[in-house]
Amino acid sequence: MPQTPTTCVCSHCNGFAIVRITTGTTPDGHHLTLPAACPACHGTGHTTTRTTVKAVAK
Ligand SMILES: [Zn+2]
Repeated sequence: MPQTPTTCVCSHCNGFAIVRITTGTTPDGHHLTLPAACPACHGTGHTTTRTTVKAVAK
C-alpha cells in the first residue's frame, strides 16, 4: 500500500507555483518577464491538508 504524502500538489496551479509572465519585448530584443507566485500556495507548489479559506474583506 503506497504511503500518502503529507503534502498535496496545489490544485490552484498544479505544482507550477512560479510562472513567468511575459510582459513584452524591448526594442533591443530582450524579453521582459516577471516571476509570479501562485496566490494559493505562495510559490510552494503544494498545499497542506489544513486549508484555511478566508474571505478577504476590502
Ligand atoms: Zn499553487
